[in-house]
Amino acid sequence: MGCTPRAVALLGSTGSIGRSTLEVIAASQGRLRAVGLTAHSQLELLEEQARQFKPQWIVATDEPKARRYAWRKLPPGVELHFGLEAVNRLVSEPSVDIVVAALVGSVGLYSTWAALEAGKPVALANKETLVMAGPWVTELAKRRNAPILPVDSEHSAVFQALQAGRRHELRRILLTASGGPFRTWSIAQMSEATVAQTLNHPTWNMGRKITVDSATLMNKALELIEARWLFDLSPDQIEVVIHPQSIVHALVEFIDGSVIAQLSPPDMRLPIQYALSYPERWECPAAKLDFGQLHELTFQAPDFDRFPALALGYEVARRGGTAGAVLNAANEAAVAAFLEGRIKLTDIPAICRSVLDAHVFDANPTIETLVRLDAWARQEVTKWMEC
Ligand code: MG
Repeated sequence: MGCTPRAVALLGSTGSIGRSTLEVIAASQGRLRAVGLTAHSQLELLEEQARQFKPQWIVATDEPKARRYAWRKLPPGVELHFGLEAVNRLVSEPSVDIVVAALVGSVGLYSTWAALEAGKPVALANKETLVMAGPWVTELAKRRNAPILPVDSEHSAVFQALQAGRRHELRRILLTASGGPFRTWSIAQMSEATVAQTLNHPTWNMGRKITVDSATLMNKALELIEARWLFDLSPDQIEVVIHPQSIVHALVEFIDGSVIAQLSPPDMRLPIQYALSYPERWECPAAKLDFGQLHELTFQAPDFDRFPALALGYEVARRGGTAGAVLNAANEAAVAAFLEGRIKLTDIPAICRSVLDAHVFDANPTIETLVRLDAWARQEVTKWMEC
């Protein structure tokens, strides 16, 4: 190649998106290099990744656990750091060209903020960041001239399809949803769904939190809020369509009625790579479509009665302000409670509804207010479970 590799700081390297990102880096023929890896508590895997990719820095964010851990020999030149502050320093390092934000949950906001503040392009896989603080994060990105490149497959698809026309020619976007494992289940059946049934997603292989979100369609609710801020759309320009095959990831309709879709097998390595190779396209290790095997692509409108999370998504996208941070935190806490067997699956949107209703709305909050409400909403979920 002869060109300098793009230096990648990968936040959340041991999670599902993090591991796929390392596969993309390994297959990039030297065009990408991992210079920093961060992980929360899977320290053995982090150590193994450090030996394979030889980054300059690794950061373990669960500091007490990392200090107790018996670190084996790291390759020469690999510096080991602890704590979230070290992640903020890593993303600001002059030698970092792009940051992949693949942390799960609201904790992802801080490091994405620090990366944008440092003027770094961010390949954003953490949708909670835009759900919580979309207007402020996108304003910061603009001010620091630091692009946010979507990694979420639907948003990557929109980003790709938008290139077929000009911004003022756009009519609307359509985000597809597989419908999850309970696409055809009744509300009564869903209220009895077990954790194992919920984690058994029909098309995508993802982390636990997002897999539960896919079963309630909260994932799509969060994605439409994410799309609203990322692409600066009004909520009525965003539609959700159920597409069980997960081949068409999103569609963009222009004012003349032309609809441009992006198709590929459900494999996150493609959107991850596009965020890292943009504006170029490279050979990709992801599976390719075989049109001989592709029997049908079906689309249907979502059922708002069986999946009330979707309506919450539209409501929060319309309200803006503090609503996103509250919905996001309430959902995170409720999903954790469901995974611990403490509540039913159908309690998740009900809890989110009641926490949203109980919160004191602020249309123009500071980041501190958002962070405070994030903690407040989690406590409200605990209270809900106690009564
Ligand atoms: Mg997605």
